[in-house]
Parts: sequence; C-alpha cells; structure tokens
Amino acid sequence: MHFKRKDLLGIQELRAEEIEFILDTSASFKEINHRSIKKVPTLRGKTVIHVFYEPSTRTRMSFDIAAKRLSADTYSITTSASSMVKGETFLDTIKNLEAMKPDVFVIRHSASGAPHRIASRTSAAVINAGDGMHEHPSQALLDMLTIRDHKGHLDGLTVAILGDIAHSRVARSNIWGLTKMGARVIGCGPPTLIPAELETMGVSVSHRVDEVIPKADVLMVLRLQHERMSQGLLPSLREYAKWFGLNDRRMRKAKKDVLIMHPGPINRGVELSPEVADGPYSVILDQVTNGVAVRMAILYLLGQVERQEPAMSVTEARLSV
Ligand code: ASP
Repeated sequence: MHFKRKDLLGIQELRAEEIEFILDTSASFKEINHRSIKKVPTLRGKTVIHVFYEPSTRTRMSFDIAAKRLSADTYSITTSASSMVKGETFLDTIKNLEAMKPDVFVIRHSASGAPHRIASRTSAAVINAGDGMHEHPSQALLDMLTIRDHKGHLDGLTVAILGDIAHSRVARSNIWGLTKMGARVIGCGPPTLIPAELETMGVSVSHRVDEVIPKADVLMVLRLQHERMSQGLLPSLREYAKWFGLNDRRMRKAKKDVLIMHPGPINRGVELSPEVADGPYSVILDQVTNGVAVRMAILYLLGQVERQEPAMSVTEARLSV
C-alpha cells in the first residue's frame, strides 16, 4: 500500500487499512530506538517545525526525538516565545514560517480545526499534535499499537474509556480508530462528562465503572481536563476519585490480563491510584515508548509524499537556471 496523504489531521478520515499500514510501519521503526546509535538518514535535509500553542511534555518531545532519529532538522516555537505575544495572528506566524520552506509542521493548538486551516494553506505536510477537544491522531495510533503489541490484535476487544470523554481529543481519536479496527468501545464517566454524540459514534455508554471493569480487555483512563471545563461539572475531586477513580479495590473485579492505559499527564490519586498507575496491569510507559516509533512512521510516511510546490517566483526561476 502507498500512503498518499499530504497531512495527518485526524483518525476520522483514515480508512482501517491506512491505520493498519501506519501501525505496521511503526512496528518496523521500533528497532531503531533500541540501537546504541539511534539515527538513520531517512529524512536528512528535511526541516520539521514544531508549533506548540498549548503545553506538552510527551507529544512535543516524542515528535522531536522521532524527527531527529530520522536525521531531520527540527525547530520549535511555543506561544510565550513567539510573536503571538506581540499580537501577530496564528495564520501570519505560519505564513512567515512557511516562507522559510519547512517540509513539515507539527501543530498543537487550543482551537479545534486549527491544523486543518493551516494544511490547506501550506505545501508543507501538517501533523495535528492535538487540536482543542477535537483530535489527537498520533496518540490514538500509539495507543492502538500498544494494545496490538500486548493483545496481538484489536478486533473483538472491549476497550473501556473512563473519565472526562467530553473534553478529550484522545478519546475522540481513539473512538474513531478502535471502532474502525473492529474493537467494541464503552464510554464510562459521570453524565456531565459524557458527550451526547457518543452513541452516534458507535460507543455504548455506562455511568457505573464497577459494572464496566469486568467486561474490559483494556481500561483507557483519562485526565480531568480542567483547562477546558466550565464550572460545576463535578461536585469535587474527592467525589470523582471515589466514584470513578481506578484503585486496587476496583481492580479486583478486572480481567487478569487487562491493560491499564493513560495518555498522560496523570493526576495521581484522582483518576488513577498510584498502585494502579505503577502496577502490573499498567502499560503507560509502553505507550510513551511506542510514541516515538509511531511518530517516526508518521514523519516518514508524510515525507515520502510528492509535494505540489507553489509556483516559483521570477527570482527563484532565475537562480535555478
Ligand atoms: N496529553 C493528552 C492531550 O494532550 C491528554 C491530556 O492532556 O490529558 O490531549
């Protein structure tokens, strides 16, 4: 199969065979991350710009490590260190960066759809590294790779997504991906954190975590995303931990080979107790390790696509003769 997309903006638009292809390509990149010299020349001479207008630890580091292991040159701007603080618009910033001829933009933004708007205005590949509450495609791909590594397949599995689904781009991307790959998804959380559209996305809904736990092959736990919450959605963190937090007592009802996943950052003692986060079922750090291989695969696949260069200016045309 040839991957023909210019950009990776979301999982919603990918076909199951494309997801499978990215996962297979990621699996083949894993080995490089275990070598003593972790570098291959695949993207030598390519320029990757990370544009992160929201905080990030794992995603930004992981994309940067992935690009550098493929020998790309990488640069990074964040809100506080960019001209946005001087009043420049996001689009103007991108147009100026575009004029420096990058090959890839990796974009995180608090507005849903921001990377999509940029993708249609640049010949560079655009990778969505998280847009508002909308999608986080590389996270869902690394989650699916981690499940596939441990279970051997995705189809037929029951994956329960627990917690703040309403504000979670991780949940949305995983729901699109997992259902396309034949898994059954259950969404579980307090009614205020379960969006109405969930059932139309092929997800069954429950508000009782103790009933969901024994059915799940995978428990994907989410952080309460206070930064996107309006007031009054939860009585208190203590109440939330009591009714929805995963702890040792609740885990007694789980399948013996269940996987506990979390995209990070974890709020220890709220959605996950420390014993569960660090316990035998947890594959949370495997997710992080797989993140590098998945992002190498994404950068590699988008790097192979022939780009339509914008028409040359007269000066450029003269210089090229
Ligand atoms: N790191 C993930 C994201 O950026 C999940 C989270 O922040 O809770 O969406």
